[in-house]
Parts: sequence; structure tokens; C-alpha cells
Amino acid sequence: MTFKELGLIPAILRTLEEQGYEKPTPIQQQSIPILLKGRDLLGCAQTGTGKTAAFAIPILQHLSRPHHEPKGRRRIKALIVTPTRELATQIGESFKVYGKYTNLKNTVIFGGVKQRAQVDALRKGIDILVATPGRLLDLINQKQISLRDVEYFVLDEADQMLDMGFIHDIKKVIALLPKQRQSLFFSATMHPKIVALSKQILGNPERVTV
Ligand code: AMP
Repeated sequence: MTFKELGLIPAILRTLEEQGYEKPTPIQQQSIPILLKGRDLLGCAQTGTGKTAAFAIPILQHLSRPHHEPKGRRRIKALIVTPTRELATQIGESFKVYGKYTNLKNTVIFGGVKQRAQVDALRKGIDILVATPGRLLDLINQKQISLRDVEYFVLDEADQMLDMGFIHDIKKVIALLPKQRQSLFFSATMHPKIVALSKQILGNPERVTV
């Protein structure tokens, strides 16, 4: 199985080749076809498996379609929520690499630093937002962020999110998302609380375990 056989567009194949990725990892082989079909996904996978590319590539490919070409101001069409600043930064870097030859912009927001630079980046207009839950809600409450146009929602490292006490923040975010969307949910473990949360987010998901 090659990336080309997965049906990826030239703009993405080019950057994967530059990165020296020879073939998709198991999570990528299983998830990319499901996500390109538009299905929701419940993924049981840890960091280090190639999980980030597994969700970033289909999102970038979908948002590269001609009708998504920005007219006027860019709107947030993909939201990725992850528990820590480190993970958020890594995911943001990955979107920059995989999306290098697309016309899409992303930014990363997280707590523990001043808001100013993050607000400036948001005001310039972005297509993809990577966020930790607390700062995301702060900026939503300040009307710096609207989730009205979100089409793709990713909840990353859900078990870590619960361990860190983010459950109420997550539920607030979910309540603000458009009902019509594609949702992805990743967790390293699938204990009952995680499965219960996944059911509040996903609609008839396909399940992938690596
Ligand atoms: P992740 O699990 O998303 O944190 O990815 C782990 C590491 O694997 C990252 O450094 C990626 O750059 C790398 N990686 C992801 N997919 C591939 C692939 N298909 N071939 C080689 N390296 C990859």
C-alpha cells in the first residue's frame, strides 16, 4: 500500500515524498480511506504511530477542494483539541509540513502565555485551529473565536484529557460545534468513560485500533 494508492492529491504526495515517508503506517493505512469517505472515526492509537498524519492529511485534502478556496476572510473549518501545549505545538508543525503545498493556514493556541500573539494570528484568518481546551474556551468567550463554520473536529488524546480534568471544558466545546460535521476521536485506551465520551461526539463511527 502506497500513499498514492490511498488516493492522495499531488500537493500532499509531494510533501510526503520530501519528508522521506515511503509508505503509510498501519494507522494511516486504516484511517485515511475511512476519513476520505467522510466517516467519523474512533481511533485507539498512541503518539508515535503516525496518528497526526492519519488525521491531518485527510483534513488538508478535504479543505483543498476548490469550493473551499478562501473568498474574503478565512474561517475556522477544522478544530483539533489536544491536552498539552507540547502536543498542540507538534500538531501545528505537522499541519504546516503536510499542508506546505496547499493554500491552507493554521495556528496553535494554548494557555500559560499571553493571549496577544495568538489573538493577532486568529485575526489574520485561519482555516485550521489547534488548541488546548482552556485557552480555546477563553478566546471563544471573548468572541475572538467562532466555531460556527467548523466542519472537522478532532479530539486527540482523549484519555489524557480526562485525566487532566478537561471533561467539562470538552463538553462545553462540543455543545458549540455545528451538528453537521465530521468528527475524529483518538485515545490510547478505551475504558468505559472514554467510550461514553466518544458517543457524545461521534455519529456511527468506524473503529481503528493499532
Ligand atoms: P505521530 O504519531 O503523529 O506523533 O508521528 C510520529 C512520527 O512518525 C513523526 O515524527 C512523523 O513525522 C513520523 N511519521 C508519520 N508518518 C510516517 C510515515 N508514513 N513514514 C515515516 N515516518 C512517519
